[in-house]
Amino acid sequence: MAGHDVFKLIMIETTITIDGPAASGKTTVGYQLAEKLGYVFLDTGVMYRAVTLVTLNRDIDPNNEAAVVEIANNLQFDISPEVDHPDGRHYTVLVNGEDATWQIRSPGVNENVSVVSSYPAVRDEMVRLQREFAAGHAVVMVGRDIGTVVLPNAPLKFYMDATAEIRALRRLSDHLVRNYNSVEFEKILADIERRDAIDSSRAHSPLKPAEDAVVIDTSQLTPNGVLETMLESVEERGLPNLAA
Ligand code: C5P
Repeated sequence: MAGHDVFKLIMIETTITIDGPAASGKTTVGYQLAEKLGYVFLDTGVMYRAVTLVTLNRDIDPNNEAAVVEIANNLQFDISPEVDHPDGRHYTVLVNGEDATWQIRSPGVNENVSVVSSYPAVRDEMVRLQREFAAGHAVVMVGRDIGTVVLPNAPLKFYMDATAEIRALRRLSDHLVRNYNSVEFEKILADIERRDAIDSSRAHSPLKPAEDAVVIDTSQLTPNGVLETMLESVEERGLPNLAA
């Protein structure tokens, strides 16, 4: 086998995708899975959030598709892992050179991100960046369309789900940790249901499980339980553990 074929094989064999709706637990568990296996973790939601944040910061109407696409095409985005950061972050997100790790989680971004990410040209640019990233790393990549569109040849795909109420409770505790005390459960639930509806019904790359995805309902599972289930699949499929 030629050298570049071996490289390609290693690359394909070390790609895990996790898709699912908002707050299904995919980011928490995906991060842990990547750590266990010694793979790099990429949460692609962060990229759509970055485009949304810049749009809002520039007072551009998120419904102005052409202006949002322009922002996506010129986005300077960087993500770097953090170990033992005092505010508990697992990575720092730089958007156009500035630390936007927490701003991309603000209620304003939550409200507008699904519209921004429904634009085909925005998606095309993000998908291009995501594929470029996957080509250079053993990766656990998390999002909505990773197994179906971004990396359809990945050897192991997960789809994580949970009821909207359970997901809203999880988000509520995230918000409380970050001091968004005024945000109530009903509001978060409505936001999650609205985003689910847009993400699942959009024409371009809608949220849905890949045909060959392992579907995990996390409603009754702890993060540890989900991780165990995933690690069983990793072993079954013979994906390498690079951290061992
Ligand atoms: O995962 P997270 O909730 O941070 O994603 C924010 C939003 O970004 C989603 O509601 C969805 O509209 C969009 N998204 C997407 N495709 C991805 C990842 C996120 O459309 N691969």
